[in-house]
Amino acid sequence: MRIAIINCLKANEVCSGAGCLKALNSRTKHFEQYRDTDIELTAFARCNGCEAGIDDGFKEKLDRIINVGTEVCHVGVCTFRKDLEKECPVITQALAYLQEHGIRCVRGTH
Ligand code: SF4
Repeated sequence: MRIAIINCLKANEVCSGAGCLKALNSRTKHFEQYRDTDIELTAFARCNGCEAGIDDGFKEKLDRIINVGTEVCHVGVCTFRKDLEKECPVITQALAYLQEHGIRCVRGTH
């Protein structure tokens, strides 16, 4: 299974990515569904921030995720803005774009 992970740029200030990769490598949390499946990590990307939204650079990252043959994209739950009490609209839009291109999206990593 070819998997990409996208995380929130705000979270990136304190996030090493270790939690996501530990869950991926040990097939736990949101990656448990791949317990009996070979995995290839195709991308590990951040958004470009709230101000940027889906700017040209973030679009380029999404297109790269598509073009390398990603089958599933997981999004870190830290992308859910507490002030909005719902999913960040930039992430909603990004995932909709990936889904339009045939990529299954999963909200959650660990
Ligand atoms: S746009 Fe969304 S995912 Fe990106 S930094 Fe802002 S809250 Fe986080």
